[in-house]
Amino acid sequence: MVEFRGVSKVYQTGNPAVDNLNLSIESGKITVFVGPSGCGKTTSLRMINRMVEPTSGTITVDGRDVSTIPAHELRRSMGYVMQQAGLLPHRTVIENISTVLRLNKVPRAQARERSLELLKTVGLPESMANRYPNQLSGGQQQRVGVARALAADPPVLLMDEPFSAVDPVVRAELQQELLRLQRDLAKTIIFVTHDIDEATVLGDRVAVFAVGGRVAQYAPPEEILRAPVDDFVANFVGRDRGFRRLSFSTGESVPIHPANAVLLNGASPTDDVEAAAASRDSSASSWALAVDADNHPLGWLAPGSTSSPLIPGGSLFHAGDPLRNALDAALSSPSGLGVAVDADGQVTGLVKASEVLAAIESVREGRS
Ligand code: ADP
Ligand code: MG
Repeated sequence: MVEFRGVSKVYQTGNPAVDNLNLSIESGKITVFVGPSGCGKTTSLRMINRMVEPTSGTITVDGRDVSTIPAHELRRSMGYVMQQAGLLPHRTVIENISTVLRLNKVPRAQARERSLELLKTVGLPESMANRYPNQLSGGQQQRVGVARALAADPPVLLMDEPFSAVDPVVRAELQQELLRLQRDLAKTIIFVTHDIDEATVLGDRVAVFAVGGRVAQYAPPEEILRAPVDDFVANFVGRDRGFRRLSFSTGESVPIHPANAVLLNGASPTDDVEAAAASRDSSASSWALAVDADNHPLGWLAPGSTSSPLIPGGSLFHAGDPLRNALDAALSSPSGLGVAVDADGQVTGLVKASEVLAAIESVREGRS
C-alpha cells in the first residue's frame, strides 16, 4: 500500500503544487490520478519515488517512510513510464529493456532472454529487438517503455501520461493491453492522465485532482460518474457522463431477437448481394442483415432494396459487453437494430434501442 499523509509541495515559485494530500493507494490495483493540467498530478507521482521531495508530510510504501529509503534503491523498486517513452536513442530496443537488469548485475545472456520475453509480453515481435527507438512508431515505443519498466519485476509501477502522445486508436489498444497485463501481473499501478475516459477505463479507483493540488474526489470510477461530489468534478467528467456510466452495467439482460438474415456465399460479395437482393421479395418491408457463410455480419439491405451495395453496419454488441455497447450498437445501426455477436464474431441476433433503454431503467430502479 502507498499512503500520502498530509503531503504538500511548494516549489520556490510560491503557490502549493500539492496541498495537504491524504490518500491510501491499494496494492495490486490501478489507481488513476486525473485532472486538468497543472493541478499537481506529476508532482504527486514523483514524490512517491523521491524524484521530487515533499515540503511537508509523509509518504509510506508498505509502511516504510520513503524518505528513509535511499532514492536509488526506491527507484529500482518502482517502474516508471512517461509520456515520451524516454528510451535511450542510441541503444537498441533490447538494450533499452535490459538496462535496469544490467544495473542489477543480471548476466548479459539472461538479461537478453528476459528482455525478449518482455517484448512478447507487451505485444511486440522479436524482430524489433535490434531496432533503434526512432525506427518504431509512437505506440511501439510506449510498449517498449512499459517493457523496460517491468524488467526488474517491480511491485509498483508509476505511469505519467504514458499514452497521451499516441493517436486515439493506438491509445485504446494500449489501454486494453495494460488491463490484460494487469490481470496477470497484479502490480500496484499509479497512472496519471488528464483524460477522464482513460481514467474510467483503467482505474479501479480514481482520484480527481483540482486546481491547487487538492483531491476533489477519490472513488471507484462508476461512483465518480454517478455521483460527482461538486460542480468541479461534474464539469470535469463532462456532459455525457450518464452515457459513459453505462460501461459499468452489464448488458446481459438485453433481449436478443432472431435476425432476418440474408446469406451471402462465395468469393464475390458484390455479385452475391445482387443475387441475394434479387431473390428477396421486393416489397419486403424490413431491413435484412447480410451475413457470410460463417455467419459473420457484412452489412444491411434496406427495406425493399434489391440492389447492392450493402449499407455498412454500426458497432457490434459482443457477448459480455456492457449496456453502453448494446445501446451504441442499436443507435449506430442504419436499421435501428444492433447486431449481437458471440466471441467468434458470429451473429447471435439483434437488439432494439427501446429494449436497451428498458434494461437501463431497470438497472436504475434496482439501484435506488
Ligand atoms: P500536472 O502533472 O497535474 O500537470 P504538475 O505536478 O506538473 O501538474 O505541476 C503542478 C504545479 O507545479 C504547476 O503549477 C507547475 O507549474 C508547478 N511546477 C511543477 N514542476 C515545477 C518545478 N520543477 N518548479 C517550479 N514549479 C513547478
Ligand atoms: Mg503532469
